[in-house]
Amino acid sequence: VFQNVPQAPADVIFSLTAGYKADTHPQKINVGVGAFRTDELKPYVLPVVKKADAILFNDASLDHEYQPIAGQPSYTKAASKLILGKDSAAIQQGRVGAVQTISGTGANHTGAAFLAHHCKGSGKCYISNPTWANHRNIFEGVGFQVEEYAYWDPVTKGLDYKGMLDAIQQAPKGSVFILHACAHNPTGVDPTQDQWKGIAEAMRARDHFPFFDCAYQGFASGDLDRDAWSVRYFVDLGFELFVAQSFAKNFGLYGERAGNLTFVCKTPEDTKRVLSQMEKLQRSEISNPPAYGSRIVDIVLNDDALYAEWKENLKYMSHRIIDMRKALYQHLLDLKTPGTWNHIVDQIGMFSFTGLKAPQVKVLIEKYHIYLTNNGRISMAGLSSSNVEYFAKAVDDVVRN
Ligand code: PMP
Repeated sequence: VFQNVPQAPADVIFSLTAGYKADTHPQKINVGVGAFRTDELKPYVLPVVKKADAILFNDASLDHEYQPIAGQPSYTKAASKLILGKDSAAIQQGRVGAVQTISGTGANHTGAAFLAHHCKGSGKCYISNPTWANHRNIFEGVGFQVEEYAYWDPVTKGLDYKGMLDAIQQAPKGSVFILHACAHNPTGVDPTQDQWKGIAEAMRARDHFPFFDCAYQGFASGDLDRDAWSVRYFVDLGFELFVAQSFAKNFGLYGERAGNLTFVCKTPEDTKRVLSQMEKLQRSEISNPPAYGSRIVDIVLNDDALYAEWKENLKYMSHRIIDMRKALYQHLLDLKTPGTWNHIVDQIGMFSFTGLKAPQVKVLIEKYHIYLTNNGRISMAGLSSSNVEYFAKAVDDVVRN
C-alpha cells in the first residue's frame, strides 16, 4: 500500500531547531525559529498569562466538556473586536462572524478550505514573494493554483510596491490575495498607509478577495490598533474579507494553538449562512476547537485590568526586539561591515531579512554555529545583549569573505 509514497522534504524551521539543539558549541545561536525569547534567551511566559492561568485553575465551575463547534462566542467575539476595533461599524451591523481555529495555521486552512468549496473565484491564490512557507502548502492543499506577487526588492531591501501593484492588476479578476496584516514574515517590511491605500484601490478594481493573515498583532509596533490598521482600512472601504488571527506570538501561547478566523460579509444574512458552512467544515475537520489556550485569551481580552496588563507585556516584547535591532545595527556600523544595514532598524516585527545569501548562511551555520534559514531571515528574539556582538562579528566575517 505504502511503497510508492514519496519522501516529503523535512520542514526547514523544525530541522534547523533540531540541528541547534544537537550542537554543543557554547556560543551557538538560534535565529531560525520565530519564537520570542527573553534577554536570557529563555522562553517567555507572559505574566498576564500566568494570572489568567491561576484564574482558570481556581475556577471550580470549569469542566472538560466539548466546546461549541465554532468555539466560545465570548472568545471569538473578543478576537474579532481585537482585530476590527472596539467601535467597528461592521460588527455593530452584524456583518462579522468567526470560528475558533487551530492557531493561525488553522485559521489560514479553514479560510482556504471554505473558499475552495464555496467561493473559488478565478481559482488562483496569490502569495507574496517571499512569504511564510505554509501559505503555499495550505492553499495548494485545498486545490488553489498558487501564484506569487512581487514583494521584496533586494536592491532597496524594501517593498517592491510597483511590482506588487502590477501583479494585482494582472491577476485574473476575482483572485484571492494573501496579505500580511503587519510584520510581514519573512521580510519585516510592511506597506506604508499610503501604499495600503493604493493596494486596496487596485484590489477593488479587479474584484480580488483580500485574505489577511495576522500572526503578529501587537508585535510589530507594540500598539494593537496600529498593527490592525490595514485590515480596518479595507473593512471601512466595504471589502468582504477574511482575517486569520494567531495568539501564538502575542500571547506566547505557541503550543496551545489558539487562533481565530474572522470573516466580514456584506449582510447579516450572508454572515449567518457563511457561519453555518464554516461550522459544517469545522465539524468534519476538528469537530470542535481546543479549550485551554482560548480560555486564557478569553479571560484576558474580556477583563479591562488584564487587558491593560497584556498591553504592557506586549510592549516589553516588542521593545526588546527593537533594542536588538538597534544593537545589531550599531555593532555592524562599529565594525564598518561593508554594505548598508539601515534595513535592520527599518524593518519591523519578529524578523529581519538581512540580505545574507545562502553560501554566507552556510558559513554562519558551519563555522559560527548560528542557525538561520537559507534566505537570510533572522528572528530578532534569538539575539540578546550577551550574543549580539558575536553575531555581528560573524556577519562581518561572512560579508567580507
Ligand atoms: N502566518 C504567518 C505569516 C506566520 O508567521 C505564522 C507563524 N509562524 C502563522 C501564520 C501561524 O502560526 P501559528 O499556527 O503558530 O499560529
